[in-house]
Amino acid sequence: MSLAPRIVGLETEYGITVVGARQPETGPPLGADEAARYLFRKVVEWGRSSNVFLRNGGRLYLDVGSHPEYATAECDDVRDVVVQDRAGEAILVDLAEEATARLAEEGIGGRIHLLKNNVDSAGNAFGCHENYLLRRRRDFQRTVEQLVPFFITRQILTGAGAVRETPGGATYCFSQRSEHLWDAMSSATTRSRPIINSRDEPHGDPDLYRRLHVISGDSSVAETTTLLKTGMTALLLDLVEAGGRLDDLLLADPMRAIRDISRDLTATTPVELVNGRRRSALELQEEYLERVLAHTAGMTLRPVELEVLELWERGLRALRTGDHSLIDTELDWAIKQRLIERYRAGSGAGLADVRVSRLILAYHDISPVDGLAEKLRERGLMARVASHEEIEAARTTPPQTTRAKLRGDFVAAAQEHRRDHTVDWVHLKLNDASQHTVLCKDPFASTDARVDALIAAIGA
Ligand code: ATP
Ligand code: MG
Ligand code: MG
Repeated sequence: MSLAPRIVGLETEYGITVVGARQPETGPPLGADEAARYLFRKVVEWGRSSNVFLRNGGRLYLDVGSHPEYATAECDDVRDVVVQDRAGEAILVDLAEEATARLAEEGIGGRIHLLKNNVDSAGNAFGCHENYLLRRRRDFQRTVEQLVPFFITRQILTGAGAVRETPGGATYCFSQRSEHLWDAMSSATTRSRPIINSRDEPHGDPDLYRRLHVISGDSSVAETTTLLKTGMTALLLDLVEAGGRLDDLLLADPMRAIRDISRDLTATTPVELVNGRRRSALELQEEYLERVLAHTAGMTLRPVELEVLELWERGLRALRTGDHSLIDTELDWAIKQRLIERYRAGSGAGLADVRVSRLILAYHDISPVDGLAEKLRERGLMARVASHEEIEAARTTPPQTTRAKLRGDFVAAAQEHRRDHTVDWVHLKLNDASQHTVLCKDPFASTDARVDALIAAIGA
């Protein structure tokens, strides 16, 4: 027996800033909105919209007044999620370089930076959404509620790390997003609301599927953190779908817990459960891992699933023993903490020092020129999951085993023959006299005779 395949997709919103632009004689300086328009100018030129689906099956878009976003195509393997997400970064890096060149040509100057983080300098929060397909069950709301403590405690492994300034001084914590969620949660009417968006939009056959739309996670810079974040969640969902129960681990006050857990770098301070017991985030994560191991015992796991389980266990061991070197090239919060501590040892800078803030921004800057991630990878200080070649190929190649293949092939054919088309997650449509439309309700289907016919019609 093995685990049932599951569709997973990742949406990432990026922070955008422009540094060094010439101050115009009239009007305000070039802000994030303007910069984003420059970033998308080329996209709008060829797609005639700031909302386009790409040859790799993914989606690139910019809403009015919002952050540039890339959503990966549907993947049935979390390793593909990592590759597709990094391909999105690569596409955005090129757009940023072109936009910067355009600013220079127009005499405005300055350099556009894209940041894979979750809060901008004005304090606005933005997200990284994880999407997991679930088989439709009547008790969806209960399923969702029992997952809340998992999402609240996994930040001790998958948080991106952040410096928090307090009246008593600056401290390091697991997650940037947790502070902001805490604000959002104070007014939440259900436990799950700030964690999981319960809008029922499955992007698939509504009789069969639901889409679990997790909105509480930090964006991940390290590929191994993305792999763990999505992989451990998919494993736990398998347990829940098989009837496994987690509702003995509900938190009494999830809103408090999310913040308290982020701020406790030992991960060992107990929080209160609904049943009156007290457990630390570390103990809860150890419990989830144990249940997943029991659930998967005797199954034939794929290499990527074994890799996820191994990193999950090792991450918890690093916290249990205090030996962060066990994971400080793989988990964002630990990679970043090591970077900061090395810098501080050399410079004498305090945690709140502006040079440390800049270092953190560089950690999240996706440019291989301005950012640190690629440099850390080259020096072996940040682990890789995907090769450079795989990421390059994924810019134009969809995952081959899901609906993304149909979409990618259709978009490629329509682009090559310059045929006007409209696409979303479930529709493929030609905007000609025929208005030929194919509805793809099954996200697992990577072959479809109707799509073949549609593509043949384009070439004819
Ligand atoms: P919003 O941007 O407002 O959050 P959204 O979540 O509906 O809207 P997108 O930003 O377009 O939509 O992203 C959808 C994500 O869901 C993509 O990453 C896609 O791969 C993934 N996805 C599509 N179909 C499914 C499905 N059936 N199950 C799980 N994930 C899916
Ligand atoms: Mg989105
Ligand atoms: Mg979303």
